[in-house]
Amino acid sequence: MEPSQSGGGAPDDPWDDLRKRGRRYRTTGVSVPVLLALMSLVGPASWCLAMLVLVAAAAAVIAFFAAAGSYERFRCPRCGGLYFRPGAWSVNPLRKTCAHCGLRKWEPLGDASNAG
Ligand SMILES: [Zn+2]
Repeated sequence: MEPSQSGGGAPDDPWDDLRKRGRRYRTTGVSVPVLLALMSLVGPASWCLAMLVLVAAAAAVIAFFAAAGSYERFRCPRCGGLYFRPGAWSVNPLRKTCAHCGLRKWEPLGDASNAG
């Protein structure tokens, strides 16, 4: 999904923030089913351990929703609008272009922001 570091990697790359948010989104999204599967495995052996895993899974669900909200509130590096939200009540985290200015995801800004 993400391009390799070819030509990028600048310390102030505006897309780094989106990469971090996306990583958090995917990590928490994967951890929930893993923890629930772990709970089903340890449940028959130890009720107390299963409850601990259940609490961890509940915390992971909360972290997942927080990460999803953070990802969806990413602001476009060019126009400053909410990248994945064309309106107040619609959101599409799978967008490949900015909902407001059409900037393609991972596209280097270069001089485009100064052109006018
Ligand atoms: Zn934009």
